[in-house]
Amino acid sequence: MILVIPIGDVNEDLMEAVSAFIESYYSRFGQRVSVLRSLPEEEFVGAFNGTRGQYLGRRFLFTLADVRREMKGTAALGVTSLDLYEEGLNFIFGLAHPSLRTAVISTFRLRPEFYGKAPNEEVLKERTIKEAMHELGHVFGLQHCSNARCVMHFSNSVLDTDMKEPHYCGSCFRRLKRNMEVFL
Ligand SMILES: [Zn+2]
Ligand SMILES: [Zn+2]
Repeated sequence: MILVIPIGDVNEDLMEAVSAFIESYYSRFGQRVSVLRSLPEEEFVGAFNGTRGQYLGRRFLFTLADVRREMKGTAALGVTSLDLYEEGLNFIFGLAHPSLRTAVISTFRLRPEFYGKAPNEEVLKERTIKEAMHELGHVFGLQHCSNARCVMHFSNSVLDTDMKEPHYCGSCFRRLKRNMEVFL
């Protein structure tokens, strides 16, 4: 079971769309996807950096990993609308920790509004699905891919995200398949 864990106020339709997409893909590895009750944002105040006005991404992973262990999930994916960063980076769309089998993604910079565009739930959904698939790929041992259409390609900006397909290229998929045999 892959656990999708909303953090704070994350749109329910969005969570459903993301979990349905992940399941349509990972069901070939026998994985169901379950959306859990959301964790309160207050649990992550320790991750807040007042100078930057952002949250340190890796601080989310330990709490999510605890939930994963408790629920005996194969993987846990947190989804937050808070703005995440890592040291040395202005921001991150998400990050993953393969040995904790845990990842977190942020919708903060996936919203068209962030770039001064009109709100668009479909665009937000597509981007969130791609980031979710990307971080789950890392959780299951995939590295970045040089193919700009592959979901494992590194995104520097939403332009890169929009270029990608929501799934793994042939070579990433073959690697994923081998990895899943070891993981499961
Ligand atoms: Zn990545
Ligand atoms: Zn690839």
